[in-house]
Amino acid sequence: MKRASSTSAEAGATGERFADALRVDGNAAAGILSELFVSDLTAARAKCAGCGVTRTIGALMVYAHGMGTVVRCPGCDRVVLRISRTPTHVWLDATGATSIVISRDAN
Ligand SMILES: [Zn+2]
Repeated sequence: MKRASSTSAEAGATGERFADALRVDGNAAAGILSELFVSDLTAARAKCAGCGVTRTIGALMVYAHGMGTVVRCPGCDRVVLRISRTPTHVWLDATGATSIVISRDAN
């Protein structure tokens, strides 16, 4: 019994060391993020958080106005993306998409 407990503790410590060895700061994601944020995302596919259907972003409905751009699902009308531009930044709210998939051929 004591031996099993000791083995479990050792396994936990090994797992923590393994996780520590994999952890680096966010700058290490620069390469893969550059694959995601390509100049034209209209060919990317977004999965709607409302109905679960995946469509290309170019097939979604866009409502553009002075406050920004709202991209809605044509199936359930849920907001999939919100994009707004300020003098210094561009904001993206993608909470209406459970995933966004970009073909690696697009880069
Ligand atoms: Zn939908």
